[in-house]
Amino acid sequence: MKTNLLASILTGLALLAGSADAQIINLRLSVKIIVHPTSGNMPSGISAQTLTNAINAANEWMASYWRGYRYQLTEVVAIGGPNEGGSSGPSRWFGKTFRGGTEWTTFYNLAQTNGLYRLRTNQVNIWVATPFADPGDSGGAMPIPPGEVSTLGGQIFVDDGAWWVVHELGHFFGLLHTFNGESKDNCTPGDDGLTDTLPDSNCWTNLNQVAQYYFGRNYDALNDHQKIQVGDVYFNVMSYHEATNKNTLENRLTEQQLDRITDHANGDRHAFATGFTRHVSSTGNNGNSGLLRAAPMRTVLNAVNASASGGGDIVLIQPGNYNETMTINRPVTLRATRAGSATLGKP
Ligand SMILES: [Zn+2]
Repeated sequence: MKTNLLASILTGLALLAGSADAQIINLRLSVKIIVHPTSGNMPSGISAQTLTNAINAANEWMASYWRGYRYQLTEVVAIGGPNEGGSSGPSRWFGKTFRGGTEWTTFYNLAQTNGLYRLRTNQVNIWVATPFADPGDSGGAMPIPPGEVSTLGGQIFVDDGAWWVVHELGHFFGLLHTFNGESKDNCTPGDDGLTDTLPDSNCWTNLNQVAQYYFGRNYDALNDHQKIQVGDVYFNVMSYHEATNKNTLENRLTEQQLDRITDHANGDRHAFATGFTRHVSSTGNNGNSGLLRAAPMRTVLNAVNASASGGGDIVLIQPGNYNETMTINRPVTLRATRAGSATLGKP
């Protein structure tokens, strides 16, 4: 078998099993909309369609990353109102911000003991209590593993765009801000610990400022590689630049950011995901599980054989040539990364 994996492909490759659909790994989301205590109305501008539109927009971004992840809106439920405790039920939070500090502790303790809060353990819990967010104001608070692994979701200020979904779920699956730890007083950039995102500062309000800081010239004078480096931080999902246009402009995630999401979706956040991604690299080892980017398997065949026999998993192949012949006897999707092409079966 000779197959070229160009940075995007290989869907439905199954020889003995016949053809199969591409394996998508869904990340499950449960949205609870807290309604008015007496009227039962949702917050101003919010409907179930708001959430559907946001998730659909977010999945267009997810498709552009070529990892096979999608967000799955498993439910949008109204909670509270006159039939669920009125102002002493979940509606006590209607219109309020409770995403942090002692208020969040109070909210979350209630959510764990009162079934009216509809806490799920296998879906990321998103509570919406405030009106449709003004441009630039969407967001919220999500726990970031590995430090914050035990909480199951958070409060979100929603609109119908992609950014809050990919940003807040990015946190939930392990991503820090690109400007993590910055010093705002003297504009010293902060860092997320990933080497393919440059340290970032919220003092920068246009591309030229980033280009000048790193390369001493304006953006238009940079070479292609430098433009990618500057754009990957300035337009990063996990940054705060171009806030009012973030639903259209702030859509980039780098390979290392995607790898971190994969590590958590395979690990401490796996309860929320429908499948596993197994990493394969020419520097890997078949003694590895392949579930961590830092510990990939060596051969595609081993990763295929470790995948679920009934389907639902993805094998992610790092750039290189894999001189293997194999029989694929289960539905599984082989993917290359955007970092480069992978080749199978070439001596
Ligand atoms: Zn954030």
